Amino acid sequence: MICKNWTARLKGLVKWEMYDWVIVGGGIHGCTIAASLLKNRKTEINRIKIIDPYPVPLYQWKKRTETISMPYLRSPGVHHVDVNPFSLKAYGKQSCSRDKFYGPYSRPSLSLFNAHSYAVFEEVELQKAWLKGCVEKIKKVNAAWEVQIDTGMRLRSENLVVATGTNNKVYTPEWGKELCVSFPNQAGHIFEDKVPPFIPPVAVIGGGISAAHLVIKLAQLFPGQVTQIARHENRVHDFDSDPGWLGPKNMRSYSQLQSDERRKLITEVRNKGSVPRELASRLKRLQKEGAFTIILDEVDSWEKKSSSIQLNLTHSNKTAEAKTVLFATGFSNSVMETDWLQELIHEHELQCANCGYPVIDESLEWCEHLFVSGPLAELELGPTARNIAGARKAAERIAGQR
Ligand SMILES: Cc1cc2nc3c(=O)[nH]c(=O)nc-3n(C[C@H](O)[C@H](O)[C@H](O)COP(=O)(O)OP(=O)(O)OC[C@H]3O[C@@H](n4cnc5c(N)ncnc54)[C@H](O)[C@@H]3O)c2cc1C
Repeated sequence: MICKNWTARLKGLVKWEMYDWVIVGGGIHGCTIAASLLKNRKTEINRIKIIDPYPVPLYQWKKRTETISMPYLRSPGVHHVDVNPFSLKAYGKQSCSRDKFYGPYSRPSLSLFNAHSYAVFEEVELQKAWLKGCVEKIKKVNAAWEVQIDTGMRLRSENLVVATGTNNKVYTPEWGKELCVSFPNQAGHIFEDKVPPFIPPVAVIGGGISAAHLVIKLAQLFPGQVTQIARHENRVHDFDSDPGWLGPKNMRSYSQLQSDERRKLITEVRNKGSVPRELASRLKRLQKEGAFTIILDEVDSWEKKSSSIQLNLTHSNKTAEAKTVLFATGFSNSVMETDWLQELIHEHELQCANCGYPVIDESLEWCEHLFVSGPLAELELGPTARNIAGARKAAERIAGQR
């Protein structure tokens, strides 16, 4: 095994390939930016590479949304991976599927959104740019960025985009970490690569939109055998930040602020742990029917009881028992605590704010020819940076100014 690894690394040392663009991360952000660069003729398919550990574009997006059986997106139909804002609407008109858009904001169905995304990727032949692997190191050599991948391969590129999302860092509360390690077949985070099988009775930890979708799914599969444990009642908001953050209404004053104030504002205005109205109503109905129970409390500790796990609650001093414990507790805010990213910052003296996130210019450039998207572009793009709307803004700015 060690020998094989070294052979790959030695091979990698002599393999040089130079590109116009390398994009690290093939999720919604990386692929939207790539499609925009190609459609705006800023590069050609044989001059760009997307590096991602998974075999196909949007792998993590698909896996996460399928795990919770999310039927519709939260965002409206104008937020998607293509350049033309009405592209998804037009695609929907031709599609023969029945449930295309939902409600007054025309939220697309997950299946329509995914089919449209792959149609856009097919149009630009994105798969030709795909390179499976995990980036381990980035450094500047002469005028090019050199990217080292865990397969041993290295490539060089004039421009580099870091679009690694939350760097696959999920958040599990402190009390649950040992539980997931000790009993991985019975407890785990729903956005980890390996999710435990859903064996009832099930406890879902968390009170946001992912927990809501998961509870609805499980309550239908195992009525009366699902318990949700959340710290608060459902917070009802149609979007995870006010639509004013998509345009000049809120962004004009935001752009006048210093980094610390921007970070404070992002934390304040994001409707974290919230659910749109229709999901809240659906949950209320299922709860009334007895399909699931909600406990408003926090878990303090756990104990293994034969084939079950007992959760000890903090405020009520009561307990809840389940065969499966699922954490729908979102992502960690330690995105910047990633070795290769920290090395890159130190070696190139890249500017970061007190919160640790990149200080970038309007074109999302961190230093010459190095661009960021998603959480890493938050201080510039504001509260919507992580969303699909943020991917579109990033694509516009990165492809627009080249
Ligand atoms: C369940 C769910 C539903 C959501 N619904 C909506 C919605 O309706 N509307 C909306 O606007 N937003 C939504 N979001 C938020 C956001 O739009 C999505 O999370 C989106 O997928 C983020 O895309 P991304 O490309 O930034 O991140 P990711 O999808 O996480 O993609 C990043 C990719 O980078 C890869 N990567 C990480 N490190 C490396 C490395 N070192 N080398 C190479 N590759 C690496 C990862 O493996 C991953 O494939 C939702 C999020 C979730 C979790």
